[in-house]
Amino acid sequence: MTTRTPRFGLYVHIPFCPQRCPYCAFTVVTGREDAVEAYVEAVCTEIGNWRHLRDRGGLDTVFFGGGTPSRLASAQLVRILETASRVLGLRALAEITVEANPTTAEASSFADLRRAGCNRLSIGVQSFRDASLHRLGRMHSATDAAGAYKVARDADFDSVSMDVIFSIPGAPAEDWPATLQQVVELDPDHVSAYGLSVEPGTPFERRRLAGELPEVGEEADAADYEQLVQILDRAGYEHYEISNFARSGHRSRHNWDCWTGAEYLGVGLSAHSYLAGRRFWNGSDLDEYVRRIQLGESTQSGEETLADPDARRESLWLGLRTCEGVALSQSESERLMASDLLPRLQRGGQVCVDGRRLRLTETGFSIADALSVSIADIVVEPDLALHT
Ligand code: SF4
Repeated sequence: MTTRTPRFGLYVHIPFCPQRCPYCAFTVVTGREDAVEAYVEAVCTEIGNWRHLRDRGGLDTVFFGGGTPSRLASAQLVRILETASRVLGLRALAEITVEANPTTAEASSFADLRRAGCNRLSIGVQSFRDASLHRLGRMHSATDAAGAYKVARDADFDSVSMDVIFSIPGAPAEDWPATLQQVVELDPDHVSAYGLSVEPGTPFERRRLAGELPEVGEEADAADYEQLVQILDRAGYEHYEISNFARSGHRSRHNWDCWTGAEYLGVGLSAHSYLAGRRFWNGSDLDEYVRRIQLGESTQSGEETLADPDARRESLWLGLRTCEGVALSQSESERLMASDLLPRLQRGGQVCVDGRRLRLTETGFSIADALSVSIADIVVEPDLALHT
């Protein structure tokens, strides 16, 4: 019998952006073009520091996220990719994703990214309405976004994804279906759609606290999500995770692996890793990161080892967000069957049970967080840690 090598991915954080969007809470650096080359060098060195992970049998996926990875010169991206390939190995048909903004300047580098070996492009469209893009503080227009998508198709990526945002404060109700309609007309292979949340420390939060940012109510948010599901379902997309939709064969393998417990290494500012049951992450200060790498010091700023029952609660939460749901153990399944929760959820059309596999329906997806807490309260043994 042959054993399958566990899946393994690499996340590379590229923090540089031309300006900070007012809703953004990611680790982003602006106005530091002077530091890009030293950062690329540091990332390559950090990858080299993990050469012992070569024994994982090579990378299934590489994901350049940001920030704005497409702001790197393609030669810099190639250098990181070649380092990853040399140090960790790339498995055949590895998925290599780059996140990109749809400005004209960045679209001009898409063909180079494709030639560099990237086979999946994720474009941060966000909206096809100029007024909404303006509200989000984005620098591109709807026309730029459609143009960038065409450039990506011409560059012949295996898979092109679009990110879009709903529940934009102050946006008229008709903007969201109009954006979705345009998405469907352009027909990307993959769509990620997120409701905007106002994060602590962002300009949006300051405006909200000052009463200057319109509230988006729960009902409006739920209505936007419902339109998303209906319109993309009608267009034939598979709803494979709460916020993600794909044409057949175009799921994001990198994200899927993260949701389903595969190991990944993260390099660069704030990048998170999950290896051998331990989660750890880098610090978020650019100069400090580069300095530590140059001095051969650790860049790690935190770590945690999730033990049961928290680890099981998390795997249930992540699994229930996917279309494949979770496989329950015999005892978990028995606890669920004996509860009055299951018949209630089944009557409400919120869950499906197939043997010991439990998954949420579309109705269940819309309240997934609350459902996964209720389900975990029943199925996860509270004193699991004492038994392991
Ligand atoms: S482009 Fe993306 S990562 Fe950069 S500031 Fe805007 S939202 Fe944040």
